[in-house]
Amino acid sequence: MLTTHPFDDDHLKEECGVFGIFGHPEAAAHVALGLHALQHRGQEAAGIVAYDGTHFHNHRGLGHVEDNFGSENVIRKLKGSMSVGHVRYSTTGETLLRNVQPLFAEMEFGGLALGHNGNLTNAAALRRQLVRRGCLFQSTTDTEVIIHLIAISLYSTVEDRLIDALRQVEGAYSLVALTRDSVIGVRDPLGIRPLVLGKMEKSWILASETCALDIIGAEFVRDVEPGEIVVLSADGIRSLKPFVKKPSRFCIFEYIYFARPDSVVEGTSVYEARKRIGSELARESRVEADVVVPVPDSGVPAAIGFAAVAKIPFELGIIRNHYVGRTFIQPTDSVRHTGVKMKHNANRAMLAGKRVILVDDSIVRGTTSRKIVEMVRQAGATEVHMRISSPPTTYSCYFGIDTPEREKLLAARYDLEGMAKLIGVDSLAFISIDGLYRAVGAAPGRNADQPQFCDACFTGDYPVIPTDFTVPSGDPKQLSLLNEEQT
Ligand code: SF4
Repeated sequence: MLTTHPFDDDHLKEECGVFGIFGHPEAAAHVALGLHALQHRGQEAAGIVAYDGTHFHNHRGLGHVEDNFGSENVIRKLKGSMSVGHVRYSTTGETLLRNVQPLFAEMEFGGLALGHNGNLTNAAALRRQLVRRGCLFQSTTDTEVIIHLIAISLYSTVEDRLIDALRQVEGAYSLVALTRDSVIGVRDPLGIRPLVLGKMEKSWILASETCALDIIGAEFVRDVEPGEIVVLSADGIRSLKPFVKKPSRFCIFEYIYFARPDSVVEGTSVYEARKRIGSELARESRVEADVVVPVPDSGVPAAIGFAAVAKIPFELGIIRNHYVGRTFIQPTDSVRHTGVKMKHNANRAMLAGKRVILVDDSIVRGTTSRKIVEMVRQAGATEVHMRISSPPTTYSCYFGIDTPEREKLLAARYDLEGMAKLIGVDSLAFISIDGLYRAVGAAPGRNADQPQFCDACFTGDYPVIPTDFTVPSGDPKQLSLLNEEQT
């Protein structure tokens, strides 16, 4: 059986990354590089659309950026000095070629390509209305709703139509759009997902993260503001702020896990934020131990911060195999269950006879954590204490992060003691929500009346009521973890 690597399934997944450039003779090649730097935000599919002044050219495909844009022939066909691109991990819509973005449509005003990072929370309701009005949908993504709303808008300019469409949608969106005259970037009024503006000589760039500016040697100019529309054209750059201003609610999980550590988001280095989270965690939940060991790679900066404050040596007690493919042959169940060792292996010399503090970024279902703890014990650790650099994930995300249903989130079903027992650790602690806020720069902690970030997956305090979804409340049913794994 050829299947997706099962141990990638126990992490939350960022949905998408976007990139756009205006005013460069090799626009598409730069978009391909930018998307390559954003690959961590979506590995299922990639697409680029370019405009050469007469024609739009597009190439979209399933798989990684390199699989689709590694060939010079493909890039050469994407002619033009304006281009936008997208990497995708699907949270709405299936993994089908017709869902791969940027979506493209011929409008009354000419072609329009649109790439979207985030998730609309009223797309299903809008889609039903649009279908009743005769709109024919080509994909099953929420993003196509924006395309149809633009198409039927009674306003005349592209920008007015876009504003008209976006006034009707709810949820999270960082968009890049390509028209015959411009590349446009938009961030939703709450600024849930990131979007930055960069410059390289005479070219303007939009990207989900600053690491995508670095790869092409562009300089970071600023974050696109929540609720801002940035229009890049031959006239330079224009900024529009047509929406009612709201206090921003940037996704706090970007700091913990989603963004690349070498990116700077909302003025804060992700790497440094992760180290500070680890330091806070050590102050909150110190325990006697011999070594601090990160679960690689995402647990590394937090473990460095933890070890420094706890004054316990930091060691790479688990080594990650970077060459595990996305798919592999799984002839039998017994082979499948050894899968965690394909991705991670215990570094016995650093673990045998030691009291170990394992630092990881989050616990989703708990299945991977349990296998890693088992592996560390088998390598001879005498005690295993787990420290998590996020608060317990107890609610699903509706804003562009793939989370399992609430009933499958370990922290929604068990208290701390129950989780520790299931994972098999001597002690377990998560950073507090206030500690997390302090670490990302919001002293003295979370403002409960007006939270400074979206933290709904930890608190259930959704910044937008997700119209299309019913948020389960109360205690999810206590299912058996073992039974669930067998299904
Ligand atoms: S619910 Fe969690 S993952 Fe989703 S946007 Fe909010 S903080 Fe980020």
